[in-house]
Amino acid sequence: MARMLLRGMRLVSLAPNRPDSENIDLLIEDDRIVSMGQYLNPHDAELVDLTGRIVIPGLVNAHLHTWQSALRFVGGDWSLLEYLAHTHGHVARRYRQGDMHTGTLAGALNQINCGTTTIGDWCHNCLTPGHADAAIDALTATGIRAVFLHGAAHGGPTRPHDMRDIDRLLRGPIARSPLLTLGMAIKGPQLSAPEVVIADLRAAVERGILASMHQSAGEPGPGWDAVEAARLWGPHANIVHGTGLSDEWVTKLVHAGVSFTSTPENELGQGHCTAITEQLLRAHAAPSLGTDTDTAVSGEVLTAARIALARQRGLAHDQQLHRTGMSAPTASPTSKQALSWATVHGARALGLADRIGHLSPGMQADLVVIDARALNLCPAHDPVAAALHASIANIEAVMIAGRWRKRDYALVDIDVDEVTNQLRLSGERFAEKIHASGPLARTRRSVVRRVVRRRLRRQIGSGSS
Ligand SMILES: [Zn+2]
Repeated sequence: MARMLLRGMRLVSLAPNRPDSENIDLLIEDDRIVSMGQYLNPHDAELVDLTGRIVIPGLVNAHLHTWQSALRFVGGDWSLLEYLAHTHGHVARRYRQGDMHTGTLAGALNQINCGTTTIGDWCHNCLTPGHADAAIDALTATGIRAVFLHGAAHGGPTRPHDMRDIDRLLRGPIARSPLLTLGMAIKGPQLSAPEVVIADLRAAVERGILASMHQSAGEPGPGWDAVEAARLWGPHANIVHGTGLSDEWVTKLVHAGVSFTSTPENELGQGHCTAITEQLLRAHAAPSLGTDTDTAVSGEVLTAARIALARQRGLAHDQQLHRTGMSAPTASPTSKQALSWATVHGARALGLADRIGHLSPGMQADLVVIDARALNLCPAHDPVAAALHASIANIEAVMIAGRWRKRDYALVDIDVDEVTNQLRLSGERFAEKIHASGPLARTRRSVVRRVVRRRLRRQIGSGSS
């Protein structure tokens, strides 16, 4: 039995009924927190002095596609249409199992480096069972906690999810990996026919697993009503983006227990349109957060939290200005709310709220050590705000299930050069395809763009395709 006592830090536990921050010790036994309090004095624990640091719960990036890591910043100036055409319409089907492993490994390690201890890894490129296995192997190798959301290729035929592979994974690789759980990355009512989404959600409910779906920039179509009539909206369902949903739908879905994940940076930049945060807050709910795609934006979920907060405050100020001629007298939402979107609400969205999201006895020891002595954070008068504004350079250490995965500012037992070399080799092959400029490549690109545009228009117009 390994026992560790963390002492000297400001603890931002985000636990219910605790102060926003407090000077208390944290006692960890194996993979979980066993005690929190002042002057704990266990005789047999390793003492870790964290004077000058802030400790927060491990961050939860509830929606990203780690398999795309080799495509980093190939599309920094792409619209949604260009992203779909290039990534899914062109290079995704060229992914080999080794590319899935390399991308997932690098993506998950980057997340740990950024302070993320849990990811909702939306793997919508499981071209074969081997592709799924390669991604799961990579996740396991990193030691990250993840919900592996198994998905078929984006834009493929809208047939029900292949449950043979889900059942195979549940029995095999997932059952053997204590930090991994399985979910389904389904096309959902915007991208598939009503009977398909009903079959998918029913299959998820029968297995007690999460089903996550994209919805953006389009009015809900008949599939949404069909799911409601079948009573299949519930806590097993997670909606990513959610842009275009009416207040009535948001309220209805919140009451059913559905969770939402906003990825504010690429929603604003790529054209998913207005984030759903305000509607959720009006419905007395909150978003979880994700970074979505490394093709266009950074993978830092704290950046997502800051953008979501700034955008939401801006909206509130504009509304107040419009009503009264002055901006709002107080800032809302708060820094603590934004930090909870990237922790507490992420855990809830991924169905893991019983073990992660906040720090208290009985919970898993997933935490981040932020060095508040640094030039950009010192003197950190408000530890919650300082944690929210920490950069990667401030993330000194990361613990997942009681094990340090980052310590002294470096990933533990990882040859980062080897990982980035593999990633570069994988990425060069795809970048070559994307940037090919011959007449054949140009014709091909324009056909793919036309097909994707037509499909997007259909989705936005009718809510299904
Ligand atoms: Zn996505």
